[in-house]
Amino acid sequence: MIGCSGSAPGPASAASCYLVEHDGFTVALDMGSGAFGSLMALADPARVDAVYLSHLHADHCLDVAPFIVWARYSGQGRRAPLPLYGPVGADRRLALAYGDDGGPIDDVFDVMAIGPGAWELGPFAVTTARTAHPVECYAIRLSAGGRSLVYTGDTGACDDVVRLAAGADVLLAEAAHPEVPDLPKALHLTGREAGEHAAAAGVGRLLLTHVPAWVDPAAQLAAARAAFPAAELVTAGAGYEV
Ligand SMILES: [Zn+2]
Ligand SMILES: [Zn+2]
Repeated sequence: MIGCSGSAPGPASAASCYLVEHDGFTVALDMGSGAFGSLMALADPARVDAVYLSHLHADHCLDVAPFIVWARYSGQGRRAPLPLYGPVGADRRLALAYGDDGGPIDDVFDVMAIGPGAWELGPFAVTTARTAHPVECYAIRLSAGGRSLVYTGDTGACDDVVRLAAGADVLLAEAAHPEVPDLPKALHLTGREAGEHAAAAGVGRLLLTHVPAWVDPAAQLAAARAAFPAAELVTAGAGYEV
């Protein structure tokens, strides 16, 4: 858990970034604001073999910019461009985040557009599903060695996310919305909804993330546990075996 603060970096964590490792291959899921510094504190950025961006909101993609700075100027980056998967337009958005001339970043990242689908990524079988969010966002299922992890990215209540997570060992689910009336639809899950999605998908374990610094995490956890007792809150710096 490199960064797990919802919607913005917070005092205790960077915004979204999760390293998933199997067989010596490392995928970074999202690279949100503040994540690159936390990544350096916990792992060597040169160990990252691929980057997957669920969507292009700032709290999920903006620290690709310092990643580019490091890759170009530290002398520690890789020679070959790193595969970077993201929604259509990621190359342009990330180039503009790096510099106002929007110059190419293809010396550092080989940017590939994603949609709902399936492909191989290192040792992982990857499947994605469009989530319920105001911009194009894809939840991802990573399977390897007979185990599977699903990360929701950002989503409101979404049947496609439940289908993607069916039978997964671990569901890493956002739980950004507090239980208050008149919440906007198709934006974020409440703790209760995250628990209900985990129960409907029949997952083994629910890890709650993306709780904003201004939302009470204990309340999110209690709401999730009412629907799915095997729920836990993640913390930045922690590691989990899938
Ligand atoms: Zn977010
Ligand atoms: Zn978002």
